[in-house]
Amino acid sequence: MTNSFSPNMIKTYITCPKKYYYQYIERLSMPKSSLPFEKGKKIHALANYYLQGIKIDRIETALNEKEKIAWKILKQNLYYNMDFVKSEFQLSVKLSDFWLGGRIDAIVKNREDYYILDYKTGKAPDNPEFDPQTMVYLLCVDKYLKTYNKLSFVYINLKENKNHVIEFNDDLKNQYEQKLINYCRQISTDVLYKENLSNCKYCEFQKFCNTHF
Ligand code: SF4
Repeated sequence: MTNSFSPNMIKTYITCPKKYYYQYIERLSMPKSSLPFEKGKKIHALANYYLQGIKIDRIETALNEKEKIAWKILKQNLYYNMDFVKSEFQLSVKLSDFWLGGRIDAIVKNREDYYILDYKTGKAPDNPEFDPQTMVYLLCVDKYLKTYNKLSFVYINLKENKNHVIEFNDDLKNQYEQKLINYCRQISTDVLYKENLSNCKYCEFQKFCNTHF
């Protein structure tokens, strides 16, 4: 049984334990539309090259119109223009008996105030402050930096040209640790993986559950 979890694993379990079972225990993979994913992938790659000072003129010309708009929004974003620290790298943190981690889009700073950036080309999370990605990444970067003046997580919503900023503090740290440990315990001790029928509409595993819409 695994004791390592990613934000996506936790998110999937919250959405539907049965879906978690199909995806991470049975490791079933179902075809999904690749279009939004491709757009996100291109913008992420471009954003990373740009921050690292790699020439991107030729890649820029290969973007389609929607991608060009998203890229323009990102290039003009206040946070994206701060001092570059590091991009596209893996971090993890240990909480109780569990390892949690993920891949960070970028960290930037303004003096000793640090910002974890996450570019969203699609839908931003419904509850960003307590989204598993926010909680895991803030705890990982808190451990990684050790000292800083301020640490925040910034969702850059490229669709709506909006930023959602979550400022980390000791109270949130305690809440995040507790919530994540609880999720990990729940997942690792679950044997039933019950169906959550309220989230079936866009689920790719419908045919396994015999739900029809
Ligand atoms: S179809 Fe519904 S019940 Fe089945 S895995 Fe998907 S979300 Fe869960």
